[in-house]
Amino acid sequence: MTSPSEQPKNICTIIKCPTCQQTTRWQNNPYRPFCSNRCRLLDLGCWAEEEYRVSGEDRINISDTEENFE
Ligand SMILES: [Zn+2]
Repeated sequence: MTSPSEQPKNICTIIKCPTCQQTTRWQNNPYRPFCSNRCRLLDLGCWAEEEYRVSGEDRINISDTEENFE
């Protein structure tokens, strides 16, 4: 007797910002899945920092080669 429960499709999708864990809307959000441009840049900054570390190690290798050259 119970009819299958229908889920409305027009409801706003609420997502969690991966940076600050705050709930934010998916619709009309240019920074999704983040809540704001700040959180988006913060997340991108984390990746850039790791890349800087790698290039820093490369630098040590270059100076090592220079010492061998002398
Ligand atoms: Zn956020």
